[in-house]
Amino acid sequence: DYWTSPSLGSPFDVRVLASSVSEIRARLASHFVSVEVVVPDIQTLVDNEAAGRSSSRSNRWLPGEYHSTDQINTYFRDTAVPNYTHIASTFSIGTSTEGRDLQVVRITGGPKNTTCSYTPAPACKPSYNGKPAIWFQSTIHAREWLTGASAEVMVDKILKDYATDASIRQMVDSLDLYFLIIANPDGYEYSRETDRWWRKTRSPNAGSSCVGTDPNRNWAHRAWGGVPGSSTNPCSDVYHGSRAGSEPEVERIQQFVTQFGTEADGSSHFKLFIDYHTYSQMWLYPWGYLYSAAPHDDEHDALSAAAVAAIRGVHGKQYTYGPAASTIYVTTGDSTDWAYDPIEARPPTPDWAYIKHAYTIEGRDTGGYGFVAPASEIVPASEEIFAGLRAAL
Ligand SMILES: [Zn+2]
Repeated sequence: DYWTSPSLGSPFDVRVLASSVSEIRARLASHFVSVEVVVPDIQTLVDNEAAGRSSSRSNRWLPGEYHSTDQINTYFRDTAVPNYTHIASTFSIGTSTEGRDLQVVRITGGPKNTTCSYTPAPACKPSYNGKPAIWFQSTIHAREWLTGASAEVMVDKILKDYATDASIRQMVDSLDLYFLIIANPDGYEYSRETDRWWRKTRSPNAGSSCVGTDPNRNWAHRAWGGVPGSSTNPCSDVYHGSRAGSEPEVERIQQFVTQFGTEADGSSHFKLFIDYHTYSQMWLYPWGYLYSAAPHDDEHDALSAAAVAAIRGVHGKQYTYGPAASTIYVTTGDSTDWAYDPIEARPPTPDWAYIKHAYTIEGRDTGGYGFVAPASEIVPASEEIFAGLRAAL
């Protein structure tokens, strides 16, 4: 089970049976690949993580715990947002394969903040209020629990501190912020309840007993389906799906971002698109599918440098940054390539990028915990990601 994908010249992480370590070590040594055991017993990490996991039957919501999709959605819809209706609303942009809502928290200050209450999509479309819109999504990969958990703490903090923190008030009043905290709810619940290492969606695949598509290889970018960068095998963890946008989770985000966000000239209300993953501590920008530089490479690089510096300033964590393909590995059909350069025909614009600033964050850590961070990591991770987000605004 690859936790980070192999690429030439870089280390990669893989989960194996303890009983296989010496055989794997010998085989890789014969190919001049060295092996280091980073986590001798992952079960101890799982046990630590479980201590910070709220019961699925509990109604309480405490920041810094691992909550279920339902707990997160219910908390924001029924508890948090009703206290801040002057700046916040929740709504669904649609449902997952198994029928779970893709619930978005919208935060924006000033007049006309929303016409959109929580109603089942696709009826709901918030009205544009003229402010630069920001899209932030997390937990599109099911096992990356820390992303949703830290995102929910961040969103909760924005709501609660609006009244007392002038810099947050200024941010909220000048922007139109959209947070999809659990972008792959079926996969996340499957990871919580059945298979902690599950990554993909939970949609069936015709002609295969293997379930699920990698939702970050499924976006309607021109390179969708390209190999390497994704897999044609439904049993692979990077299976690209039967067609671009085959996964309702991906398709609904694409539809919302383009339908809500497109101006007459083809540019977008959305000025920043962030897809938050774990792990590796990286801030990545297009291209994922190509080694050559994207047209706005200098701007992407400068913004990434600022975001990474801001993150380091919080808890000293060092993130690397750069174009995704050369910084980690080639990916096809990923979300940020799509956000930056969608496949749909658009009117030509002087500045042809759709959402010029589209970034993938790979958050904590660099492998000591991997996907299984103890709950004590949630609040510090949220502080870092919030600092990075604010530096990017
Ligand atoms: Zn991921």
